[in-house]
Amino acid sequence: MNIDLAVILCLVNEDKNRQFDAYAAAITAKMLQNCPEQQAFLERFDIHYYIADNPKDMSIARVVDADYSEDGQNLRKGKSFGVVLNKSVLSKLETEDELAFVLGHELSHIMYQKEYPAVLKLNEDEEIACDCNAVKLLDAGGYNLADINAIDALYVQNNFIGQRIRARKDFMAKNDYNTFVRIGCSTPLQKDTFMHLQKEPWCRENIFEFGNPGIDRIVSELKDIFEKGDKSVFVRGFDAFLNKCSTAESSQIIMSVLGRVMSECPSITEVYDKQGLRKYYNHPVFVMSNIVLSQFKREGKKLLPPKELAVVNRYMLENSFYFEQKDKKIWQPLRDTIAYKVAECGKEGR
Ligand SMILES: [Zn+2]
Repeated sequence: MNIDLAVILCLVNEDKNRQFDAYAAAITAKMLQNCPEQQAFLERFDIHYYIADNPKDMSIARVVDADYSEDGQNLRKGKSFGVVLNKSVLSKLETEDELAFVLGHELSHIMYQKEYPAVLKLNEDEEIACDCNAVKLLDAGGYNLADINAIDALYVQNNFIGQRIRARKDFMAKNDYNTFVRIGCSTPLQKDTFMHLQKEPWCRENIFEFGNPGIDRIVSELKDIFEKGDKSVFVRGFDAFLNKCSTAESSQIIMSVLGRVMSECPSITEVYDKQGLRKYYNHPVFVMSNIVLSQFKREGKKLLPPKELAVVNRYMLENSFYFEQKDKKIWQPLRDTIAYKVAECGKEGR
């Protein structure tokens, strides 16, 4: 899960969430094994189940693009999804059958958004289509259809829900779903998989805590930030570490890092144009801009290795949209140093 998204959703830490993830995955597997076509369709995606601990949120569940690369809600393009269940509402449920219905509904949203025909044709209203498909899944899994009433009861105040309930009941009547057949056969909800879970701050470890982690480690952390977000610990840790170095050392480390990410990652212009703002703000060059500004403002001798200098210079020219328009002021101290260095080299050449 993208760390930025996990923070927004008040998710429980991923490691502690695993037991619940496995439990929910087993419930959905039980339903999907009897719906092989839906199962094959959903197997193309990576889907995990998360607990959110956010008492203010009265919705029971939602599905999100776990990569959070676009706007966080774009299921159409996504490949990995998080089905997020709200602990406070979930704790009001009593049976696994009730949870199965909720999970079936959320999985149906993925299929609906991906334009899976059998779900699309159920109803032109997405919520109703997802409810109807959840009925199908619930029945296929041998769960108790009567338990859907408990979910309805949670939202009985909401006017729109009444319409949804009627549409679902029509669908069930038309397709001969028998609500009474498994009455009294519900499975108790395994609340121990989630009741103890609490929202925790998600953040990365500070790789600079014990001194210099090395260029490789710094570059791989930047690439991980690009993928999963949360740059704050890295930026603070890196800057504090460099402040303990001389300006000569600091500038060399920065240039080595810039040289690597500027040759190994997609360009910042391309990311801005094609991958959206979230990715842009987590781009290695954007993340490094904070450190560059603070370190190149320091008084003292700067050392710029020629090989990296050439890479950085070329990259700045090729991405002038960013270095000339977007973040010109931030990069100015480095640009001034580079210009100085270039002028110096020119002098030597004469
Ligand atoms: Zn829904």
